[in-house]
Amino acid sequence: MKKHNFSAGPCVLPQEVLKKAADAVLDFDNGLSLIEISHRSKPFVDVMENARALVLELLGLEGKGYKALFLQGGASTQFLMVALNLLEKRAGYLNTGTWANKAIKEAKIFDDVYEVASSKNANYNYIPKGYEIPSEYDYFHCTSNNTIFGTQMKEFPKCPIPMVCDMSSDIFSRQLDFSKFDLIYAGAQKNMGPAGATLVVVREEILGKVSRHIPSMMDYKIHLNKSSMFNTPPVFAVYTSMLTLEWLKNLGGIPAIEELNEKKSTLMYSEIDINPLFKGYAAKEDRSTMNATFTLENDDLKETFDTMWKEAGINGLNGHRSVGGYRASMYNALHLDSVKTLVEVMSELERKA
Ligand SMILES: *Cc1c(COP(=O)(O)O)cnc(C)c1O
Repeated sequence: MKKHNFSAGPCVLPQEVLKKAADAVLDFDNGLSLIEISHRSKPFVDVMENARALVLELLGLEGKGYKALFLQGGASTQFLMVALNLLEKRAGYLNTGTWANKAIKEAKIFDDVYEVASSKNANYNYIPKGYEIPSEYDYFHCTSNNTIFGTQMKEFPKCPIPMVCDMSSDIFSRQLDFSKFDLIYAGAQKNMGPAGATLVVVREEILGKVSRHIPSMMDYKIHLNKSSMFNTPPVFAVYTSMLTLEWLKNLGGIPAIEELNEKKSTLMYSEIDINPLFKGYAAKEDRSTMNATFTLENDDLKETFDTMWKEAGINGLNGHRSVGGYRASMYNALHLDSVKTLVEVMSELERKA
C-alpha cells in the first residue's frame, strides 16, 4: 500500500512522475537509459532547456531578465555561493531559524553580515516584522519558509537592495510576485524532485559586481554562459524535476496548487486548533502551508498516538529535534486524502483519550 508520506524532505512526489522517471532509467532514448546517455546529447540538452524554461514560465518570470540554473551541492552550497557572488562589504540577513543561521554562518566567512531581525528569542516560532533594510548593503537574504519551525513569510519587505531568498521548502507552492526577488534558490528535494539538483533563478544584471575572484564552479556567470552545463549536471534529478514541473503545469500551475495547498493546511490547522490534545507551535499568522508543527499537550499519549498514525499508513510525522513533537509536511504532491487520514487519527485519539 502507498503510504501517506508527510516527510519533510526528501518527500512525496507525484506518482505519475515516479513512474515516468523509473521508465526513463530503463529506456529513455532508443534502448538507452537516461543515466547512461551523454548530457551533451540532444535528448538531454532538450530536457535541461525544457526544465529551465518551465521554471521561468511557472514563476511568471519569462522575458524579465531572469535565468534558471540547475546546479549541485544543495541549498547548503547556495549559502556560500550567494555570498561569493554578491557580497562585497556587508549584507543583511533575516534570522528565522536553522537554515537562515546556516546561511549567515557561510556569508560571515567572506564579509560582514548584519542580522536585520531575528526570532531567536522565541525559538523561531514567528516571523519578525517591521524591520528596516539599510540601502547601502549589498543584498538582503531571507528564508521564505522555515521547514523546521513551520513558519512562513506571508509578506516580503520593501527592499531597496537586491533580495535573495531561500525558497527550498515552498517554491512553486503559492502565488507570489517572484519579480520582487533578484535571486531565488531551492534544493529540489522538497517541492520539485529528487535530491541532487538545486534550482537557482537569478536576475542576470545583479551579477559581476564583486571584486573577488570567484572559483569557476561557484560562479553563477560561468554556469549561465554554459547554459547550466558547465560540468555534468545531475541528469536524473534534472529530468525528474522537469517531469514534476510538467505535472504542475498540466494541473493549472501555481494558482491551482495553491488552492489545494490552502485546503490541506486549513484542514490540518483547524484540527490542531479544535483538538484539545494538540497545540500548534508557530504563531498563527505565520503558519506555514507546507510544514505544520505541533505538539501533544500530554506526553503520556505519545505511544498511543504514534502507534495509531503508523497503523493508518502515515510516514514521516516526527518533528525535528530542535522543536520536538510532530511535523506534518504537506508539499505539493501530497493528496488531500492524506491530510484527511491524519486528521481522522487525531480526532480518534481525542475520542479514545
Ligand atoms: C532543506 C533545506 C535546506 C537545505 O537543503 P540541502 O539541499 O539539503 O542543502 C536549506 N534551506 C531550507 C529552507 C530547507 O528547507
